[in-house]
Formats: sequence, structure tokens, C-alpha cells
Amino acid sequence: MPQLSSCFQKNQFCILVEYLTSLNGISPVKTEFAGYPAVMTLADRVHSDHDMAPFAASQQYPDSVDKVLHFAGKGRDIQDFELFLLQAKAAKINNLLLLTGDKLKAHCYGEDGSSRTRYLESVNAVMAAKHYGGFHLGVAFNPFKYAEAERDAQYLKLHKKLKAGADFIITQLGYDLDALKQAKAFLKRYHYPQKILACVMPLSLARANFMVKHQVAGIVITPHMLQVLADEKQAGLDERVYLRCALQMLICKHLGFAGIHLSACHKPEEQILLESYIEQFRHLALDELESLWNSLWQVKTGKEFVPELSYYSRQPTSSQIIKYQQLHFMHEALFESKIAKGVEHFIFKAAWWKNTFAAKALLKTEFISKHGVVGCESCGQCRLGDTLYICPETCPKGLANGPCGGTTLDRCEFGDRECIHSVKARLAKALGQTEVLKEKLIPTVPLEVRGTSSWKNWYLATEV
Ligand code: SF4
Repeated sequence: MPQLSSCFQKNQFCILVEYLTSLNGISPVKTEFAGYPAVMTLADRVHSDHDMAPFAASQQYPDSVDKVLHFAGKGRDIQDFELFLLQAKAAKINNLLLLTGDKLKAHCYGEDGSSRTRYLESVNAVMAAKHYGGFHLGVAFNPFKYAEAERDAQYLKLHKKLKAGADFIITQLGYDLDALKQAKAFLKRYHYPQKILACVMPLSLARANFMVKHQVAGIVITPHMLQVLADEKQAGLDERVYLRCALQMLICKHLGFAGIHLSACHKPEEQILLESYIEQFRHLALDELESLWNSLWQVKTGKEFVPELSYYSRQPTSSQIIKYQQLHFMHEALFESKIAKGVEHFIFKAAWWKNTFAAKALLKTEFISKHGVVGCESCGQCRLGDTLYICPETCPKGLANGPCGGTTLDRCEFGDRECIHSVKARLAKALGQTEVLKEKLIPTVPLEVRGTSSWKNWYLATEV
């Protein structure tokens, strides 16, 4: 049995060690880390859009080394993913971490007639991999969200990822233990048996400054944290970076995490230092570890890891509610009623809709009637009924099932708008519609369907 599955089955704490894919040459393989089983993990385009693909990097290592390959949906569609599954299967790699991914550095907005960058959602990737069969599937989750709506949206999407078939979860990198505890409590509350691992990284001042300066998506570094790191640096206490990382790993073990994902600790000398701190403190109880952690971070109020809160809104506006009600009424009457379905199915079956002129006129009519109201982009597979009438195409990544992990206090990772998934979550809560956002797995839109009329596609797919 592959090492990761075996660890999960035996409830054995394990360490996923991230290996670089962006450098030439291979690194020595670690099968254990500080006495814990270690598994190789290869990330997808973290440093640049042109990093070596994890699959290509994995081929440099023997088949006997158990690996977790990341697949980020950025700049990809379902066909790319199906090809990846074939490759992984042929290479007998069965651990996959499926992510939507942060913003592609060369993201194209689709101006000037160029095609817009697409993102394959993790939910859809999990659905496809599950359907294919034979994989052990991980998903990412960001518990470090501090505006109510964006936190709700993250957890609603986590329900979908688990419902789609994810076997394990890896959190976003973060330092707020309360948020990690909440994630663990969520799984317990809903009786999810899936394992959860926390992402940790030795956080130096240089790395923290880099993340703040470049606004690395979804990672929270507060002014308090920066100040602590700067003071330590000045006092020559740089090694505390590794001590703190060791404490976080040990705390997560005590909290019941199945393991950790160790990021950006690639150099042998860094790993040795980290291992030595784990050895030194592994005998401590949880309260002792937490007390040491709190004293190193100079925690006094418990809010030291929480960003300064500024919300877009706490309640949906009355115009958002009225718009929902009107569109819902129209949707039910025009697309869900038996009479409408029967009549329209009959109309759209007519051969003359195959005529290019008729098809173009229909598409134009649909676009004109919907673009101004909801921002329709003629995706050909209208999902408004499952998204509280907020068009998924108004998310820059085109996500329909929920948010990526990159929001900051309801603000979209792209920085130019409020996250539509926060708006949806807020609206759903006010209208008692959260089940829709939690349960409904929305299929991805095949490329060949884009640019066709969703009306025609809807009625023709309807059973009458
Ligand atoms: S989901 Fe597709 S068809 Fe529906 S409004 Fe959005 S772009 Fe248009």
C-alpha cells in the first residue's frame, strides 16, 4: 500500500515534504522526517507560471517513492486534467492534490478578442478524478478567513469538495491556531471522516515581508507578526523561525491533524535544524507547546493573527434581495415549469435552429437580455439557478462552486471587486438558501459549449 494511504489507515502522523520543481536536478529523497514517515509532494507552478510540471519532476525519482502530485486548475480545462489523470495512472501515482490555484501570473482578461484565462475548479477536478477511479484525492482549504461571508463561503465549498469525493484536506499556510482548530471542529461536527493536514513553513522575516509586499493570495501576515519577526532578527534570534515551525507541527499533531505539509524547507541544513527542534520539544504536552508558541509570538489578546477587519457588508442590500426574488420568479416560470419546458423543448427541436443565422440571433438575444442584468458572458450552460442568480463568469476565475482561497476580507484576489462568492454566501444566509451552495455540485462548462445559447441547450437537455 502507498505510504500516505498506509499512514492514514494506521492513524500515523506523517509529513508531506515539498520538493522543488523549478530547479534542475533532484534532491535527496527523505522517507522519514524527525522520526515521522515522510512523503514527497510536488507543487504546481508556485514560483512561476513556467515551473517544471509536477508530473515531469516526479519522473526524475524512482517509482518506489510515494508522491503527492499537485494539479492546479489555473489556465487549464477539463481536457488538460483528463490527460494528467492518464499520465498519473500510467506512472502508478495515485496521490493527487487538486487545487483551483492562485491567479495565473500571465492571466488574460479576454480583452481585444483574446481568449480569457480559464480555471478548472477543484470541485470539478475531484468529480472527474473520482469518476475515473483509483486515485487518493486531496483538496486545499483556507480556514484563515476573517470576514463572516468569506469564511462561510469557504466552508460551504469545503462541503462540496468532500461531497465530490475528496479523501483528505490540506490547509492553506497560516499561523492562527484558532482557525486550524475551527477547521478540525468542522469535520467533527459534520462527521466527515476525511483526514486533514496543516500546511506549515518556517516563517522568516524576509519571507513574511515578501508575502506582504506581493500580497500572496490567501496568506495572512499581520503587522504584529512582522514586528515580532523584525525584533527577533535584530536580536540575532533567527533560529526561532525553525523552533516556531517545530512547535506548530507538534501542536497540530496534538490537535488531531493527520500530518503536515512542509513548505519551503528544502535545504538539508534547514531540515536538520527543524528536525532537531522537533526532537527537543516532542515530549511536551499540548498546553506546554501552546504556551511556548504564544510566548514566542508575544500573544496577549489572542487577536495577534487576525487582520484589521474591514467588511464590504454584513448584510445583503435590499436591491440584491429584490433582484434575487425577481430572477428566481422568472427562472421558475420560464425554465422549471413543466409547461415552459414542454413548449420550449418542442420549439428548439425545430431543424431551423441549426441555421447559423438563427443560432447567432438567438445567442445575441440571450446575451443582450442577460449581460446588463447579471453580466452574462454566453457560457452556454447557464448556472444561475444554482448560484443565486449571480453569474459565475463575473468571478475572474469563472468559479461556480464557490471561492478560491485567495480572498482578503471579502475582496477578490484580483483586487478590483468584492468576491462574488462572499456576496452569494451572505445572500444565501439571509434567504435561508445555504443548502444550494453547500450541496449542488455544478459541472464545469465544456469548451465546445461556450458561445452557444444556454436557453436552447437547457430546453433540449430537458426530459419532457
Ligand atoms: S451562467 Fe453562463 S449563461 Fe448564465 S448568465 Fe452566466 S455566462 Fe450567461
